[in-house]
Amino acid sequence: MDIQLDRNDTTPLYRQIVAHIMEGIALGRYPAGTSLPPERKLAAHLGVNRTTVVAAYRDLVATGRVEARVGHGTWVCADLMDDANAPPSIVWQTLFTPAAGRLRESALRDMMSAIDRPSTISLGAGTPAPDLFPIAEYREAVTQTLETWGAEMFRYGEVAGWLPLRRELAAWMAQAGVHTTADQIVVLHGSQQGLDMLTRVLVEPGDAVVVESPTYLGALQTFRGAGARLLPVPLDAHGMQIEILEQTLVRHRPKFIYTLPTFQNPTGATMSLGRRHALLALARRYGIPIVEDDPYGDLRYEGDPLPRLAALDTGGGVIHLSTMSKIFLPGLRLAWLSAPLPVVEAITMARQTMDVHPNSAAQRVLHTFLTRGWLAAHIAELRPAYAARRDVMLAALAEYAPPGMTWSQPEGGYFLWCRLPPGVRARALATEAAREGVSFVAGDVFSPDGGGRDHLRLNFTGNREAEIVEGVRRLSVALRRLQRDPVYDATETIAAARPVV
Ligand code: PMP
Repeated sequence: MDIQLDRNDTTPLYRQIVAHIMEGIALGRYPAGTSLPPERKLAAHLGVNRTTVVAAYRDLVATGRVEARVGHGTWVCADLMDDANAPPSIVWQTLFTPAAGRLRESALRDMMSAIDRPSTISLGAGTPAPDLFPIAEYREAVTQTLETWGAEMFRYGEVAGWLPLRRELAAWMAQAGVHTTADQIVVLHGSQQGLDMLTRVLVEPGDAVVVESPTYLGALQTFRGAGARLLPVPLDAHGMQIEILEQTLVRHRPKFIYTLPTFQNPTGATMSLGRRHALLALARRYGIPIVEDDPYGDLRYEGDPLPRLAALDTGGGVIHLSTMSKIFLPGLRLAWLSAPLPVVEAITMARQTMDVHPNSAAQRVLHTFLTRGWLAAHIAELRPAYAARRDVMLAALAEYAPPGMTWSQPEGGYFLWCRLPPGVRARALATEAAREGVSFVAGDVFSPDGGGRDHLRLNFTGNREAEIVEGVRRLSVALRRLQRDPVYDATETIAAARPVV
């Protein structure tokens, strides 16, 4: 089989192999019954890894024009095009862009999240408490907004977001000490969209981006999807280790520094005031922007609040992302960013080909909610409820967890970050825990550099207290069983693709 691979082409090698063989079939070079070379032989012939040929054959089989049977090899099968049930003739895998390929690789890793049987208690998802959603107030806000705005609510709107809402969000940020203007605000459908937009306008394949290690999975996926080179900087209980950051900045000149300074996802760590100042000074010295992702900043349960990086910044070098998902209703998909004007300009341009503008009706209802003071009141209710849930989880861990397991004690946010007893892997535990009826997120998915295999993230906000206790009890049962009968090669169960939030 004369396959010419072009190693300078950005199309992955396995897809070049697929394209060649499908072309050969289409042109009659490989008629039905032609045997394809054994994987190992073709790999050796082409000078590629065997996994490359395995991936190519897998995609070929998916087209329906190639069949494979263990022990019998792989061969071209008959053209079923005359058959009404014929498989589609388009080989999608050969058409996707390199960026789509990169996303697919990482998405597969993330499907490990939960095997959600109805009886499973999920300590995995970073969700607010559905039992505390302010439904009555929301209904009232919808009614009032409809009465006030009528048909206006459903018209096309401004790309950056409805101006009165942007003004209101600027006032909301001013209360947190961040001085910004409506012009500097872009309303988003989720802060994940903000990460995506910023990446579109700032990152080209090969560009470097600084991330904390570990960090939010959705950001890692976005940056990886854009072909960024990730530069991990380790994190301790006081946030990103700024001493290490400086060497990275000098050596790699990254496009930006992505940080979650307050109640970090997944660790719950909060960057100290000293480090906040040091980070801003360093970033300014080297002229590198900071992206401050701040979904949890309003959810402090004890201790003194620390100023946002955007509040401390005097050099116009911070892009601040905030979201309604963790303090209000995640399904509304409403968030916003505040950024220097050139950034706002670039992303509003980019947005025109994406979703045109944010949902007009949802923005107006949120505006009503904010101006009535209902959001502040809702957050004031959430804080003690979430603090109590956190304490219940801490107490349950103290009661049930086996010796050798340790966990963080965050002053706010959504997550505990747990270290497993020596020798236990989080992925193996996930399988055991699923049998026991509890799920969590294994730590390695948050790692830009292969760490975190002995860690797991537990969410304490999404369940009622009794479920939290039962979830931790089940987890401990699974953990003790695994310690008794270690599983070294746990099968990872692939559930439906769902985000790890
Ligand atoms: N950033 C961080 C740090 C998060 O934890 C999340 C959600 N868990 C997001 C961004 C995305 O949130 P959303 O798109 O719902 O605003």
